[in-house]
Amino acid sequence: MTSKISFLYILVLSAILIICHAHHEFLKDLNGTRKGDHANGLIELKKFLSYLGYVNPANSIHMNDDFFDDELESGVKEYQTFFKLKVTGVLDQETLNLMSKPRCGTPDHYFMRNSEVNHSFEKVHLSISSRYRLVKAWPPNKRNLTFSYSPNTRLDAKVPIVIAFRKWSRISPFRFLITHGRYVDGDIKIGFKRWDHGDGYPFDGKGGILAHAFYPPDGRFHFDADEIWDTKVRQGTLDIQGVALHEVGHILGLGHSADRNAVMFPHVEYGEPRKNFSQDDIDGIRALYPNN
Ligand SMILES: [Zn+2]
Ligand SMILES: [Zn+2]
Repeated sequence: MTSKISFLYILVLSAILIICHAHHEFLKDLNGTRKGDHANGLIELKKFLSYLGYVNPANSIHMNDDFFDDELESGVKEYQTFFKLKVTGVLDQETLNLMSKPRCGTPDHYFMRNSEVNHSFEKVHLSISSRYRLVKAWPPNKRNLTFSYSPNTRLDAKVPIVIAFRKWSRISPFRFLITHGRYVDGDIKIGFKRWDHGDGYPFDGKGGILAHAFYPPDGRFHFDADEIWDTKVRQGTLDIQGVALHEVGHILGLGHSADRNAVMFPHVEYGEPRKNFSQDDIDGIRALYPNN
């Protein structure tokens, strides 16, 4: 009897440990890995970098094995360039540390997976020294955006989300109005989703990818329902308002910024203090909507 109970206890404990460490566990043995190496975890790394737009599966015959090929090297270099790390193409500790932090799932590079993006627009702004990225703007006649909640949206999320909208209203020409029509009719469609939820960017349980939003005029805005969401900043939870502020930036057409102080920086940790807009966020939104 005792052994049965202790067996069960161990089973439950290991299940909890697996759940807690499932995210980016594949990164732990990759320190120092470089082109030409074989290493456990490289398959998952390639999937992760492809999800974020750094690795193009069409350029690699090694997507389903653990070989470090040219495409992965160029993806790692591009990741290091984006985040202003030392650009070596080698998986050093600094690169792995950043990759293992929770983050927004909206890709850092959109050129491969979203044909709707105006490429030339993105490139023009890459050449200047700012760290913000402009992806796509709403048309000039569209400055009032309606928002709707999917029917299962947790009630306590609504006030923090509205506060995030209001903050963007102060620095942009946009007004945000709740729609009393159907969920699908909102310009911005807000929902809490889990795992594969039909938009091509599956969530991944607690940790890892936390939320994502699509650029204009798509307006889908999803939180990973498996995170521990909170209306306050607290140790061990994730602040809805802080994450919402970041995602609304995508809804308005801003991409990720490499400025760690910017609201549009993609990584956010559990318990992290709420950010105010940085000069980079303000410069970004003004550059995207210069005539307002
Ligand atoms: Zn993001
Ligand atoms: Zn989604």
